[in-house]
Amino acid sequence: MNATHFVCPFCGLLCDDLPFPGTSGHVQAACPKAAAGWAAIRPTGGAHVDGVPAEEAAAVRTAAIALARARRPLIGGLAGDVQAMRAALALADRCGARVVHAHQAAAQRNLFALQSRGAVTTTLAEARHRADLVVIVGGDVTQRFPRVLERLFAPEPLFVEAAQRRIVLLGAETLEHAPAGVPVERVDCGGLDLFAAVAALRACCEGRLDGHGRVPTALAALAERMRASRYGLLLWAAADVDDAGADLLIEQLQQLLQGLNRETRWAALPLAGSGADLTANAVAAWQTGFALPLEFRGGEGAGDPFPDYRDVDLLLWIAVLPGLTFPDWARDLPVVAVGAPGLAPPGARVFIPAAVPGVESAGHLVRTDGVVTLYAPAQVATGLPSAAAVLDRIATAVQAQAC
Ligand code: SF4
Repeated sequence: MNATHFVCPFCGLLCDDLPFPGTSGHVQAACPKAAAGWAAIRPTGGAHVDGVPAEEAAAVRTAAIALARARRPLIGGLAGDVQAMRAALALADRCGARVVHAHQAAAQRNLFALQSRGAVTTTLAEARHRADLVVIVGGDVTQRFPRVLERLFAPEPLFVEAAQRRIVLLGAETLEHAPAGVPVERVDCGGLDLFAAVAALRACCEGRLDGHGRVPTALAALAERMRASRYGLLLWAAADVDDAGADLLIEQLQQLLQGLNRETRWAALPLAGSGADLTANAVAAWQTGFALPLEFRGGEGAGDPFPDYRDVDLLLWIAVLPGLTFPDWARDLPVVAVGAPGLAPPGARVFIPAAVPGVESAGHLVRTDGVVTLYAPAQVATGLPSAAAVLDRIATAVQAQAC
């Protein structure tokens, strides 16, 4: 194994500036999430069927029979690389399955806002070299993306004075991983909830409350600073705005940006990509023209934005990256799982181990800003097949069932 660099697959930032944790303790020190991801995938174990160890070929055959017999199969989880997602879609097409990512509810918040009123987003690189004011909306994004501010606050940015840069928290109390030397302030929203605070901020930025609005002083002052900023950045993680109508909040944020861009420059960086949610949605869009969720029926694939999974009779769960939450509603379903050793969902009827992309096999993953699909080379040789290879074998066996 001659990997020249490590692309960390354990969150959507896909950091490529740290050594592989298997050969150094540095990643553990630099990033707790990478350390947890690495720990989650290290247990070993082979295929099993009904709780009994099985040869991979027998497990593939059992999985194919179950899929061929299912009337309303669902392919879910989808924490894998580009190649795994392509194979999952081909299998879904063959079986007439529905397809959804485990984090789709959070992903939809950004997607619905984009579909409704558009979005102004930027890249990690542009924000790193230009942003003078970063407003973090909702929760502490560094809990889900521990190195995001380290990545955004370069010691010597190209187009902004390092000493001018500020971070403002709109919602979060504090940051678990704050960058050294950058002032962090928390805005007192005067008892307004996040929805009302963003609406008030937008009204102030657009001059609609001048002179007669009763807006908390700190919010009005923030609006002035946002208008005066030369390049501002709104940063959030959709998983942190977990309220009914969160897509409307994100739509408000995008409208706020669009208003600010009449006078100055602002952009959003909606953080995502962990558990390959951006990868799965990107491949779905490339291949079918629709983001997830999808439904394949009669050889046709179509978007399924408001799915109802009450009639699912088999779940094929794909998780070669850690961090997914197995859905409560699927706990009583028969489950076939293709996953990294250690990531089998409890009670899976069939489990087939597969390699972790970026660690045990090479793979491509889409980064949080959506503009690059990074090649993540393998770091260790375990002999495990890639998830794509396992899914291709299941598809071939499903085809054989149909003959
Ligand atoms: S921030 Fe994310 S990508 Fe970067 S080292 Fe930590 S887990 Fe890996």
